[in-house]
Amino acid sequence: MELTKAVLAHIVSTDDKIHSYVTVTQDTALKQAVDADKRIKDKSATALTGIPAAIKDNMCTSGTKTTCSSKMLENFVPPYNATVVEKLNDSGMVMVGKTNLDEFAMGSSTENSAFGVTSNPWDYDRVPGGSSGGSTTAVAADQALFALGSDTGGSIRQPAGFCSVVGLKPTYGRVSRYGLVAFGSSLDQIGPVTKDVTDAALVLNTIAGYDAKDSTSVNKPVPDYTKALTGDIKGLKIGIPKEYFVDAMQPEVRTAIEVAIKQLQELGAIVEWDVSLSLTDYALATYYLIAPAEASANLARYDGTKYGHRATDGDSMWDIMEKTREDGFGTEVKRRIMIGTYALSAGYYDAYYKKAQSLRRLIWKEFNQAFSKYDALVTPTSPTVPFKIGEKTNDPMQMYLSDICTLPINIAGIPGLSVPSGFVDGLPVGLQILGKSFDEETILRIGHAYQQATDWHTKKPALK
Ligand code: GLN
Repeated sequence: MELTKAVLAHIVSTDDKIHSYVTVTQDTALKQAVDADKRIKDKSATALTGIPAAIKDNMCTSGTKTTCSSKMLENFVPPYNATVVEKLNDSGMVMVGKTNLDEFAMGSSTENSAFGVTSNPWDYDRVPGGSSGGSTTAVAADQALFALGSDTGGSIRQPAGFCSVVGLKPTYGRVSRYGLVAFGSSLDQIGPVTKDVTDAALVLNTIAGYDAKDSTSVNKPVPDYTKALTGDIKGLKIGIPKEYFVDAMQPEVRTAIEVAIKQLQELGAIVEWDVSLSLTDYALATYYLIAPAEASANLARYDGTKYGHRATDGDSMWDIMEKTREDGFGTEVKRRIMIGTYALSAGYYDAYYKKAQSLRRLIWKEFNQAFSKYDALVTPTSPTVPFKIGEKTNDPMQMYLSDICTLPINIAGIPGLSVPSGFVDGLPVGLQILGKSFDEETILRIGHAYQQATDWHTKKPALK
């Protein structure tokens, strides 16, 4: 209870500066804290009992608004919980609020929210990354002890890197997507945002596993991920794909990443530089066909007839639907729906969508080949440190490029972890560790060993 009250008070005193939250759920939190205290007393507590956590506002929470930071769902109150929320509730978590995101998780800066931008706690004039920006700022600024994010092309890892917290995108199918508002269904995955790797393992222990309600969740036993955190990475083979050190990369970020890789080497990992993943260049185009195509299908449901926003001033059914979508969706969402609809249309399907699917298969194959030689691959999470608010809003292509190191991972469905790995002029740099499908254990082990040897993850923003 004391912890919950302290976190709620801290949110009140800091959130006007960074705006992590769309909704603060004080009443729910206080009720859950009472239950948690009971469980602690009668010794039925889990590792997460009584721990204040934040949930990205695109995961359904029964009785609590789930807006996706869109006008379309501004007043949407789901009648059920996402499976991940249900599992966290069973573990005794205390939900303190729902966090801000780019509308429907489309973006890399949390500027595309209908409810205002979120600021980076390390520099209020800069973006926190996105789309799970509210989740990563909440954890970085101690407004929650952990959070959940969703990652379609980097939305957990890129903002984790920008805010100096840990972010894990699990393997596609590892965590149930039931109750996650769909963006790109074949790419979306829910994962933990935490202060360190041990916490990420603990949260993954709770949320992972098969769910009959999500036909894409995989029926594989869930290991105890904390057991993988041995501190020992001697002899592990790590490849460094050269294509991830792109031309547009900030030289200081490159240096920070190189220092981090050398640290892994000192810990006994066998590092091989200059590994080639030659299809990396195609990942951006592949992603920006598949994700919008799936989004255009998924977002067709928001037509004003079933739930969400509905325009009232139309003359006909079509008129009302059109107006509903016109004022319910923001610019980026409309752009994605148009790109996706175009790519799926009869005349262009073969030229665009089908080609993207073939490339997807090849990218997947290339990763598999690399993983026959290496236990893990290591890259920067993002080629730059957090950029200024407004800097890229008028240039979607520049915005899309900030996910260049994270997008290919969703295309292949493999797991990726971002850990804090230094600062450039006071701004965070993230190190990305990639693993084989369903081998979250190895990347957590590497991230944890790295944290044993460094203290980047213990640094906190001043919040002045
Ligand atoms: N920034 C990417 C996009 O805009 C990825 C978003 C995400 O992972 N949800 O699509």
